[in-house]
Amino acid sequence: MTENEKKRVGIFSLTCDEGCGIFLTEIFNRKLVEWLEKIELVYFLAIKDHVEIENLDVALVEGVVTSERDKALIEKIRANTKILIAMGTCAITALPSGQRNNFNINQLKEIEGHLEKYKFLPKALSVKEAVKVDDEIMGCPIDREKFINTFEKYI
Ligand code: SF4
Repeated sequence: MTENEKKRVGIFSLTCDEGCGIFLTEIFNRKLVEWLEKIELVYFLAIKDHVEIENLDVALVEGVVTSERDKALIEKIRANTKILIAMGTCAITALPSGQRNNFNINQLKEIEGHLEKYKFLPKALSVKEAVKVDDEIMGCPIDREKFINTFEKYI
């Protein structure tokens, strides 16, 4: 496979503890050399410097959409990828990283100023609620076998 035929893959973290991305580096330890025959890893801040988000074949996204910044990022990713995969339960259900959605009125009052100051959205959204996704990989963190099976469908 020539360099031009390789699938361009990006891995992105929205608001979360980045646990799925860390777990993914462990999967990469065993599988990346094999996958690099078929993919070019163009965006993954955990292991390489930032590059522009453009012309992706597959984007894997962890975390929740909790701020205007997250919203702009996920919309940019969606507009620049053929396949978008929600990675981990945060991206699919907005929990656990979006636990403020379950706060009671008193708890919400306590964080009100913070939400305004950092331009947080009224409610944390899963990736699925924010944009159309093409596939999903459950788990907190992601399940290794599910990740491999799902990812390999698209490369
Ligand atoms: S699903 Fe779990 S491990 Fe993955 S980003 Fe969310 S909290 Fe972290």
